[in-house]
Amino acid sequence: MPDPVAPRRRATTPDPVPRSGLVPPAVRGPEPAPATASAQLREPVLSARDIRVDFGGVRAVDAVSVDVYRGEVVGVIGPNGSGKTTLLNAITGVVPASGELYVGGVPVRLGSPERARRAGLVRMFQTPQPVRALTCVENVLLATSDTRHRGLLAAWLLRPLMARVEQERLAGAQAALDRVGLGDRAELSAGVLTYGEQRLLDIARGIAAVPRVLMLDEPSAGLNSRETDALLLLLRAVAADGVGLLVVDHKIDFIDALCDRITVLETGRVVAEGVPAAVWRDRRVMDAYLGVAHDG
Ligand code: ADP
Ligand code: MG
Repeated sequence: MPDPVAPRRRATTPDPVPRSGLVPPAVRGPEPAPATASAQLREPVLSARDIRVDFGGVRAVDAVSVDVYRGEVVGVIGPNGSGKTTLLNAITGVVPASGELYVGGVPVRLGSPERARRAGLVRMFQTPQPVRALTCVENVLLATSDTRHRGLLAAWLLRPLMARVEQERLAGAQAALDRVGLGDRAELSAGVLTYGEQRLLDIARGIAAVPRVLMLDEPSAGLNSRETDALLLLLRAVAADGVGLLVVDHKIDFIDALCDRITVLETGRVVAEGVPAAVWRDRRVMDAYLGVAHDG
């Protein structure tokens, strides 16, 4: 299939805006500067273009574009009600939206969680909701269950294959728990986990689903500073495996340390984007979001 993004990209003069500088949305080309040299050689693994979501008369997300490269962590910040969660909902097909979505350069039609999932987009919600009566490993297995419907005969014929697939799923679930540091809790009921551990279990579920892009909504919420630091290392490690991360969060220190690039939303619009240091210097971000006083 021809890549719809590539021709546009080749036609663009490479990187007219200084890499370290803030990239104002109005003058920005379709491809913002990726964070690492290796990322520049590739297409974004996620490219959401001109996303709009209307709720009745309210435009909750207004022409937002965001790219995430393989192995990159992109943060989305903004005041309450600025459309961060709705943007993730739009990209993952949970709410009706207009715009364009490409995963690995291939167009994915908006509006279906199933399609988004099949394309490799995995979404973690604001509050972890493990099935408390199931064990941790069972909770992870739920996230990787194969929901394709097979006839009885096919299921019977496929038994030997399915047994192996099940073994691999179990090994994958255990590996995901090991990855987040819950390996020794695999057989414990999820109900006994602390809130911070439930958050990690949620991330294990995300990892086990083998995402191309993992989207997290307020992952540091409810975590103490030690847990937040551990989460930061974990998410960087997940990105280092080649997953693209799109992370909404309120904790500025966390976002600053975690993200390669940041997009700032205000009433549904992108008001700033770029590398963290540049975003923090932006006057609109200081005024509207950080509430930092400045003179002149
Ligand atoms: P954030 O995550 O940045 O706090 P949201 O994306 O949750 O913001 O909300 C953005 C705007 O859209 C808010 O004005 C909110 O009230 C509105 N909104 C969000 N979800 C819905 C919905 N399902 N129906 C109607 N309005 C909604
Ligand atoms: Mg939200």
